[in-house]
Amino acid sequence: LSERLQQTIQKIKGKGKVTEQDVKEMTREVRLALLEADVNFKVVKDFIKRIKERAVGQEVMESLTPGQQVIKVVKEELTALMGGEQSKIAVADRPPTVIMMVGLQGAGKTTTTGKLANLLRKKYNRNPMLVAADVYRPAAINQLQTLGKQLNMPVFSLGTEANPVDIAAKAVEEAKREHNDYVIVDTAGRLHVDNDLMDELQQIKASVNPDEIFLVVDAMTGQDAVNVAESFNDQLDLTGVVLTKLDGDTRGGAALSIKAVTDKPIKFAGMGEKLDELEDFHPERMASRILGMGDMLSLIEKAQENVDEKRVKELEQKMRSASFTFDDFLEQMGQVKNMGPLEDIIGMLPGANKMKGLKNIQFDEKQLVHVEAIIQSMTKKERQEPSIINANRKKRIAKGSGRTVSEVNRLLKQFEEMKKMMKQMSNMQKGKKGKGFNF
Ligand code: GDP
Ligand code: MG
Repeated sequence: LSERLQQTIQKIKGKGKVTEQDVKEMTREVRLALLEADVNFKVVKDFIKRIKERAVGQEVMESLTPGQQVIKVVKEELTALMGGEQSKIAVADRPPTVIMMVGLQGAGKTTTTGKLANLLRKKYNRNPMLVAADVYRPAAINQLQTLGKQLNMPVFSLGTEANPVDIAAKAVEEAKREHNDYVIVDTAGRLHVDNDLMDELQQIKASVNPDEIFLVVDAMTGQDAVNVAESFNDQLDLTGVVLTKLDGDTRGGAALSIKAVTDKPIKFAGMGEKLDELEDFHPERMASRILGMGDMLSLIEKAQENVDEKRVKELEQKMRSASFTFDDFLEQMGQVKNMGPLEDIIGMLPGANKMKGLKNIQFDEKQLVHVEAIIQSMTKKERQEPSIINANRKKRIAKGSGRTVSEVNRLLKQFEEMKKMMKQMSNMQKGKKGKGFNF
């Protein structure tokens, strides 16, 4: 999602005057991006309509910075699309309040069960009980028990032999006796959505009538997360979603589409493996992330679709350390040819938005061919060590490639600038390695 928007936004951002044509162009891109992210057609239509109305309206036209004002409108509407702030948890009229955690294997159900219990106690002063209803893997029960120990909270388990439906029902009885006001049921997952899993979850649901059914989804799984959310919601009528692993380098597209497709709020965001790393989901931050962050992941994904993965990693490493040569550059060009214009690729690197030098580096497809010719006319040594390219060498290279000396000069300059930029960028990256949202 991000990359498309990025390009358009980059274009519109600095505009002192936004024409209807600009708005039209942008909304078209936004629309395509949303549709591509599997957002429901009707949702997209409404969304675009609202943006259009607002973007050609007074607030934008009369603003001193119309370009930025448009971005603000898009951001606000994106935020609205992901729902407002929604972190409230149900409270049953008669305790205990029952929360059922569902999701695929590895999504983070067990971890989130612990995190949620921790949050309920810390923020709401509650006294939760954890329930080990994932009986298919002994390790799952141990995992929950370990969390319970860390939190000093009771974990209800009947071992691996018992039926999960029984376990859940008996846990609720136990919670009543022991005055636990929340019961969080950690259920089993599968690698894929399947009927057995859904049957079991439906039975648990029918048996304990939960106040909340939270789907735990791994944000890293991108569009898969949307399909998963849709089928769980169809079968179980979820009450909310927890998006985990947002501490990773993920796109925001999943968040957008999940809300749009299921119409269920994303309530919490998992921001790490530790028990206190569960946060309220902030739609606004997510919108910023979608709009403003370079998308390293999509760069890598894009690279993987087209080229040799290992080689790309190496090149990326070299780019970051600014130690790459014209030979690498040439190879890079070959690699990225299928990936689209180089400036777009650079634009996907986190932090690239802010780089001043970026504007001077523009390659279009035709230029790429010229650039390639120029580099190919360099000797091996010149490619490794461009600083030795003096006036005579420049003339020779220009002749060999059928380009002018000034074109050779320009390339040399751009190359240096790019190297400098890569270095700056990798420094910036080091500076903000922290967890959480970066923008
Ligand atoms: P389950 O199979 O759904 O119960 O998933 P688990 O709770 O066992 O989690 C699977 C893995 O994901 C574990 O290694 C967790 O530590 C990790 N994990 C869960 N939530 C997060 C999160 O928000 N951020 C990160 N980085 N890792 C997480
Ligand atoms: Mg588990």
